[in-house]
Amino acid sequence: MTERTQVVRILKTVDGLTCYLAQKRQGRTGTLTVGLVPTMGGLHAGHRSLMERARRENDLVVVSIFLNPIQFAPGEDLARYPQTPSQDLQLCDQVGVDAVFMPTPQGFYGSDSPASAGLTQVVPPAAMMAVLCGPHRPGHFEGVATVVTKLLSLVQPDRAYFGRKDAQQFAIIQRLAQDLNLPTQIVGCPTVREGSGLALSSRNAYLSEAERAEATVLYRGLMAAQAKFKAGERSSPVLIEAVDRTLGQVPAVQPQYVELVHPETLVPLDTVESTGLLAVAAYLGQTRLIDNILLRHRQPILAIDGPAGAGKSTVARQVAKRLGLLYLDSGAMYRAITWKALQQGLDLQDEVAVAELLQDCHLKLAASGDDPAFAAYPSRLWLNDQEVTELIRHPSVTAQVSTIAAQPIVRKVLLKQQQQYGIAGGVVMEGRDIGTQVFPHAELKVFLTASVAERARRRQQDLKAQQLPVESLAALEHAIDDRDRKDSTRRVAPLKKAEDAVELITDGLSIEQVVDKIVLMYEDRVGGVPTHSGANGQR
Ligand code: AMP
Repeated sequence: MTERTQVVRILKTVDGLTCYLAQKRQGRTGTLTVGLVPTMGGLHAGHRSLMERARRENDLVVVSIFLNPIQFAPGEDLARYPQTPSQDLQLCDQVGVDAVFMPTPQGFYGSDSPASAGLTQVVPPAAMMAVLCGPHRPGHFEGVATVVTKLLSLVQPDRAYFGRKDAQQFAIIQRLAQDLNLPTQIVGCPTVREGSGLALSSRNAYLSEAERAEATVLYRGLMAAQAKFKAGERSSPVLIEAVDRTLGQVPAVQPQYVELVHPETLVPLDTVESTGLLAVAAYLGQTRLIDNILLRHRQPILAIDGPAGAGKSTVARQVAKRLGLLYLDSGAMYRAITWKALQQGLDLQDEVAVAELLQDCHLKLAASGDDPAFAAYPSRLWLNDQEVTELIRHPSVTAQVSTIAAQPIVRKVLLKQQQQYGIAGGVVMEGRDIGTQVFPHAELKVFLTASVAERARRRQQDLKAQQLPVESLAALEHAIDDRDRKDSTRRVAPLKKAEDAVELITDGLSIEQVVDKIVLMYEDRVGGVPTHSGANGQR
């Protein structure tokens, strides 16, 4: 067998990295999307999952391997932290990472002892450092925030990937990106665990076989609390006590804290309303381990994606009605912005003017319910407290909405508003990217599709029904095929079945039959009752 040549580019200096990225960006006609995965080395399957996701979502993937001295307090394990550079590089190579940035502390900070060199430091909000690991690791989050800000500034990635295993770090970095208006999207990835439940960590290398078995009690403790949560318990002290009691069964494990906080703000919670981050830190001998799960109580989410012409919107509306869920009508949201822009006499091509308008557009959707006045509408919509359900159907809006919907800033702002509905759940949404970007944790994802021939037939029938000029089946098939190809290869939100989506091929099925199938799947999967998730830290 011939040895595989290593293709990953190793960059050891800031200048090398800068030059490499400039070359890659220059040598490209369109924009180059870049994903960054910051690590401290000692790579394992947890890191691998971040790298694989970055690989799937970006043109160029940079992994940094840098044991950041300033995030270790004196007396912590900086000097013995697991470092496995040749295995790490092999892993990066296997995943198809493009470049690994592995500078020295001197090269990165301009000093061998950066902690005392009087560097500019990034200081996260005090309240976010006053909980969980903060009080036990003085200077840690300033060190993390500083290194991440420097890496984001150097690489200027479109996306940066972090594990939710370090939930406090993730919340702080998200906040940092928001507060400093950094353009990078901060992506959180689920915690990867061993079969035993033990969260993978570079520090697990410190554990003996016996300790590894004992360490699984952290996850068991979290699961004990989750069982109570599923049974309806909402009080933090009671949930925390469930973890404490489980940890108490293994005397070798010395808990440092068990806390329940809001997953984004990290504010301590007395009771868990919709979501809570339950986190634990404990010592096993000299080894400090952390773990967490998300406790979440919400109605299920149903996400429907699929190629154009598969009947997504008709099906989604009917399914929402049948199941009594809110049809999260993104099209109506784009219409509302269009209507507002037209009201204000804006030039809709002027993206800057539209962007400025967005701050004052607060949208509220509600199911149209049984009110006959709104029976024709999939959902009702208010813009800044004014009901616009009917106004946004005006032909002037219909004629212009695609201009507005194509503007990235509009999509970004509306995505945030759509995700707000995900907190309480109980929604059906259809469209591109719903199962992968908008609601990656939807309980049921359906990829609705039909053969090109079937979609052409349906299109032809629609044209006939609307008394529009009817094209030949061959011409329609050609157009649909072309659209599929464009949709699957386009740079923004390409058509792609989510890994965990159920494919439903609708050839030969009527709308009613498709709706029936989805309703059945939904009832089978989620039983129509609120579900709770977070077993592996996913959100
Ligand atoms: P570290 O090398 O420990 O700084 O980790 C680098 C990145 O990998 C961080 O974003 C971690 O949250 C993430 N990570 C570490 N362990 C895991 C895991 N078990 N599952 C998912 N992500 C992880």
